[in-house]
Amino acid sequence: MTLVAFVGYMATASSGFSPEWLALGAAMLVIPAAYVIAEPCIGTKDTACVDACPVDCIHPKADEDDHETEELLYIDPEECIDCGACVPVCPVSAIFALEDLPEKWDAFTERNAAYYNK
Ligand code: SF4
Ligand code: SF4
Repeated sequence: MTLVAFVGYMATASSGFSPEWLALGAAMLVIPAAYVIAEPCIGTKDTACVDACPVDCIHPKADEDDHETEELLYIDPEECIDCGACVPVCPVSAIFALEDLPEKWDAFTERNAAYYNK
């Protein structure tokens, strides 16, 4: 998550005076955003994670032009707030926190980021 996005998020969260949201916002400052979609998504791509993500940082969604041509979905490392909400809804356990990503799927970290840098 970028600093600008973080400030915007905190401003929105603060307006509700929710301790839980404020704590989540504070956590974003010290924990780098780092969730990655890996190989098991290929061939499934059901977009369950898209619906679970509170910041809309998983693409391409079903209504986006390249949804059919991309093999899997990708998490935007700049926008992900590291909440983990997408992990339990994935039917094929394709989503990992960076520190839990199996070594054999290391390349998917760059592959997720590359989708947003093209
Ligand atoms: S960890 Fe949270 S913010 Fe990041 S992609 Fe998953 S649901 Fe979205
Ligand atoms: S829920 Fe899992 S399989 Fe479905 S699109 Fe997301 S990462 Fe891929």
